[in-house]
Amino acid sequence: MERPITGFDNDSDGDPIAILSCGHAQHVRHNPPFINRPWVTSAQGRGGMVGKTLNCVRCDQFELPDYFVPYKRTSVFTEETVPAALRKDHSTKTGVWGKIIVEAGKLRYRVDMLNVDTELSPDITGIVVPEVLHNVEPLDTVRFFVEFYRAPDKET
Ligand SMILES: [Zn+2]
Repeated sequence: MERPITGFDNDSDGDPIAILSCGHAQHVRHNPPFINRPWVTSAQGRGGMVGKTLNCVRCDQFELPDYFVPYKRTSVFTEETVPAALRKDHSTKTGVWGKIIVEAGKLRYRVDMLNVDTELSPDITGIVVPEVLHNVEPLDTVRFFVEFYRAPDKET
């Protein structure tokens, strides 16, 4: 899916990478004549690209950025206490990932935009992708909570 660029950095080899709003990074090399991105060679050029979008396939693959940290979790819900808002399509805000952790039972997890309709269980954790609409539905009895993740350098 398309994600806006929020800034730039270099990888361990010194190659330029764009940081996207989801937390994923993407190489943006200038390597003529094969890859032509002359803008990446100047601070001004990079600045002009902030806010432009790149296609992030790692979001499409539910890949929670590995350097993100948990900062908040919901209380534990059951089939009787699951908030109505979670049964309807809803999403996290920009840059906020989630893990749907089932402690017991089964929970249906649907993400229409990414063609996912699956069953979560104590063995299968659901990953919530930032800004992507999703909903859950208890299948029989269930006990679960959601843990939220974000980039480590943000203040609470
Ligand atoms: Zn991404």
